[in-house]
Amino acid sequence: MKIDHIGIAVKSIENSLGFYEGVLGVREAEREVVEDQGVTVALLPIGDSRIELLEPLSDDTVVAKFISRRGEGLHHICYEVDDVARKVEDLKARGLRLLDGYPRRGAEGKLVAFVHPSSAGGVLVELVEKERGIEQ
Ligand code: ZN
Repeated sequence: MKIDHIGIAVKSIENSLGFYEGVLGVREAEREVVEDQGVTVALLPIGDSRIELLEPLSDDTVVAKFISRRGEGLHHICYEVDDVARKVEDLKARGLRLLDGYPRRGAEGKLVAFVHPSSAGGVLVELVEKERGIEQ
């Protein structure tokens, strides 16, 4: 298992890159619109993990509401798992609260599911399915 990425809600990816690229020296590798989640996503690799900057597409999206309530900042932590669908069933059976009862397509077309903060120690947790066939 590894931390695939850490999601950070920002008002503007362009403005935030001043810190990540200009100060920390990490480089944006990919940018993508994820319509399903109402965000533009920028991925900045750090070692085996990435920082995921989330910029809302409009004011009525989940991330925009998060920013208006709590300001910019840490939004979620994403763990890589072998099989998201199986994990979702397992967590439901244990009574954990999930945002969706089934995996959906997230950034990079990967299967993802979110565990509600009330079931995960106050942190929104994303699970992403490990890419198959590129491991040695
Ligand atoms: Zn994420």
